[in-house]
Amino acid sequence: MSKQSVLVIEDEIDILEVLLYNLEAEGFRCYKALDGEAGLALAREKNPDLILLDLMLPGLSGNEVCRRLKQDALTRDIPVIMVTAKSEETDTVLGLGLGADDYITKPFRPRELMARVSAVLRRTGSRVKTAGSERLEVNGVLIDPVRHEVFVEGRDVVLTATEFKIVQLLASQPGRVFTREQISAKVLGQPMHPTDRNIDVHVKSIRKKLDERRDVIETVRGVGYRFSDRSPRK
Ligand code: CA
Repeated sequence: MSKQSVLVIEDEIDILEVLLYNLEAEGFRCYKALDGEAGLALAREKNPDLILLDLMLPGLSGNEVCRRLKQDALTRDIPVIMVTAKSEETDTVLGLGLGADDYITKPFRPRELMARVSAVLRRTGSRVKTAGSERLEVNGVLIDPVRHEVFVEGRDVVLTATEFKIVQLLASQPGRVFTREQISAKVLGQPMHPTDRNIDVHVKSIRKKLDERRDVIETVRGVGYRFSDRSPRK
C-alpha cells in the first residue's frame, strides 16, 4: 500500500519546514508549494490525501485557493486544513463556508497538528490509493481509474467502460503502438476477427468526446493506435 500524501501550501519557509518534518516523520509523502497557483497545480497533479493550506499567502489568498479547490471536480474531495496566524482569523475562515475541513492556529505543537491531520483523514474516509489506481496524467489528459473518469483541461469527459479501458491501456505506455488485436484482447478479453471494426468504432467515439484533444490518440497506419507522447500543439 502506498503512503498517504499531504500537500502543504505555505509561503513561510520556517513553518513549511516544521510541517514537512513532522508529516514525513509520521510517514506521509509530502508535496510543497510556496504559493496558491503552484499549490492548485500540484493538487490537480498529485491528488494528495490532504491539503494543509496557509491563509495568508502571496498572490492568491488561502481563501481563494480553498474556494478553487472545492470548485474543481478533480480536487473538491481532498480535505483541507487551513493554517491561520491568529485565532481570530479562524472565525473568518469558517464563516466564509469555503469548505475547509478544519483549521489550526500558528504557532502549533506538532502533536496537535498530527492529531488534526489524523482526525480529518479518519473523518473524510479512506482515500488511500491501492496499486494500479493511481491517477495518470499524460499530455494534459488526466485519467482517474478510481472514478473511471477522464479530464481534459479541467473538463470531465464521459466515456463508456470500454472506451475508458482503451484510453487507460494506450496511456499506460505513451508512444507505444498497440495493434487492434492487442487492444481487443486486453480490453474486450477476446480475440479480434480480421474484419471486425469494433476497436475503430470505439476509438472514433473516444476522439469525438476528447474534442480539441482528439489528436492524443494517434493512428499508426497499418498497425494500430497509440497515445501521443508529444506535447499538445497550442
Ligand atoms: Ca503566510
